[in-house]
Amino acid sequence: MMKVGDRVPLELGGEAEITQLLGQGGQGAVYRASYRGRDYALKMYFTKKLKNPAMFRENLQRLCEDGSSSPAFVMPLMMTADTSEGFGFLMELIPPEYAPFSDILNARVKFSGLYSIVNAAIKITSAFRELHNSGRSYQDLNDGGFFIRPTDGDVLICDCDNIAPYGENLGIAGKPGYMAPEIVRGEKAPDKLTDRYSLAVVLFRLLLRGDPLEGGRVLKSVCLTEDAERRHYGYEPMFVYDPSDDSNRPVRGVHNNIIKFWRIMPDYIRDAFTVSFTDGLFQPEKRLIEKQWLDILVRMRGDICACTCGAQGFISGSERDPDGKVVCPCGTHYQPPLALHLGKQRILLFDGAKLFNDDVECIGEVVRNKVNPGLFGLKNLSGEAWSFTLPNGQEKTAAPGSAVPVFNGTRLDIGGVPGEINGEI
Ligand SMILES: [Zn+2]
Repeated sequence: MMKVGDRVPLELGGEAEITQLLGQGGQGAVYRASYRGRDYALKMYFTKKLKNPAMFRENLQRLCEDGSSSPAFVMPLMMTADTSEGFGFLMELIPPEYAPFSDILNARVKFSGLYSIVNAAIKITSAFRELHNSGRSYQDLNDGGFFIRPTDGDVLICDCDNIAPYGENLGIAGKPGYMAPEIVRGEKAPDKLTDRYSLAVVLFRLLLRGDPLEGGRVLKSVCLTEDAERRHYGYEPMFVYDPSDDSNRPVRGVHNNIIKFWRIMPDYIRDAFTVSFTDGLFQPEKRLIEKQWLDILVRMRGDICACTCGAQGFISGSERDPDGKVVCPCGTHYQPPLALHLGKQRILLFDGAKLFNDDVECIGEVVRNKVNPGLFGLKNLSGEAWSFTLPNGQEKTAAPGSAVPVFNGTRLDIGGVPGEINGEI
């Protein structure tokens, strides 16, 4: 271990001075370090713990040169020289407003609302899509590698030192519960298909706050020994909501989150998880590809609605009364709001609803009219003017900062994509 004040020479010249220990794991330790007047995170490896240090170093070197395929990945930036302590690299520090995924999973940190949760899922999925498009896999997807900003769902992914081209195995075992069953069984090295299994686990944990394979059957193992773990995650994995076998259902009092959230999930989300954790357990090619997840997650974001009490839900997972009104858990029955159909997207225009572009930037928000609070407008938060046509045929423009009135029949154009506001949901 190194201590505060120690200096580590960088390959490109100069020295990084250690100012604080940030964390330590099986492979090495991460420090805060100052280099040429800026603060970075410095990861130093316990070289003896690496299976093949030379190959590991070579891969890191390549990562420093190739850089990131997505801004979400916190990639190695610069290698240290070889020292008596081993070697390591500099990367950017995680800003303090980002919380470890594990803190979100154990409810120490709470999201600001459903938009932030779904946007975090979208950001994780698109980061992996870009990584896989560049011919690489992450190899060690688990809750320790993610940091999420709970106010808007922005994601940073660390532990990028294991990213490697397909077919190369850095000897990373992965974390139980996140690894694909064929890796647990020792049959395969990590690749795109095993990453896809881990991605489904991450999304399940993010949206349902539980383990997709841990139900009643797993609880019967008095303690989860390594043998039992290999059985539950490798040889006899069973989805908690397997439609053809209910022997591993979540247990009330233990898996309350899953039971609560599964009920309110839109059916297409339940279907996606069911495929991922039934057929997808043993047939890797049946696992959803990132683009499929992105399409249904964007749809899910458009299904977000809210009651005047502030409770949010997904309209397709909500209870309706015989008149078609949404029944909120608070007891209120409310008329579903008008919807904006924009290209392939459909979003519900409730008070506070948000419109996002493909880069997950918020470009519009539903606000109350200041003069007439009974009227709503879709406020233009983008940098470009929107043209729109009112139901009476009047043509107008909403400059950035102003709003398009939310009337049934308003037609509009946002960034070249035509849309319409109407009552169809
Ligand atoms: Zn309510």
